[in-house]
Amino acid sequence: MDTDVFVAWFEEAARLVRQDRDRLTELDAAIGDADHGTNLDRGLSEVCKALAGTPPETPAQVLTVAGVTLIRRVGGASGPLYGSVFRQMGKVLESPVTLAGFSVAFEGGVVAVERLGKAALGDKTMVDALAPASRALALAVKDGATVREALDQAARAAAEGATATIPLQARKGRASYLGERSVGHEDPGAASAALIMAALASVAA
Ligand SMILES: [Mg+2]
Repeated sequence: MDTDVFVAWFEEAARLVRQDRDRLTELDAAIGDADHGTNLDRGLSEVCKALAGTPPETPAQVLTVAGVTLIRRVGGASGPLYGSVFRQMGKVLESPVTLAGFSVAFEGGVVAVERLGKAALGDKTMVDALAPASRALALAVKDGATVREALDQAARAAAEGATATIPLQARKGRASYLGERSVGHEDPGAASAALIMAALASVAA
């Protein structure tokens, strides 16, 4: 997993989010403030611009640029939350990147977002996609999976985690103000987290 793969990850994530921008915004309209698709679309295109402007030399630099850009450029809660995942990963990821090293860095990123958002699994947030992805990665490392298999499993776990938010009642973020009325809708942050993990699996394939 070299620097190019990490740059390609954000380019593909930007593409997938743009493609699903309206769906993400509709999900946010149901239980939030209807800006998640547009915010994340804008944020990820800013990330791609920043990466193209000053090409990073290491995967860690890619993650740091992405994290800082998302924190600065995305409105709402999702920018700082996603930004904290990538910035934390950028702090610990060493080159050359191994699957095991990536898994540890990703786990640290998930812990960072859980702390910042004070969210745990089952609160109906992006953590519901990110934490299962992290667990799947760690298991794949233990099982001696290839990078491709591991990232596929992580993407699948994230997608299942996002779908599993539908019957949940939100306990964090704006959706939590809706109480029981948040039940029956997929969490937009979990949905976008699943897209971001799908992007990584796709560029590693
Ligand atoms: Mg919103």
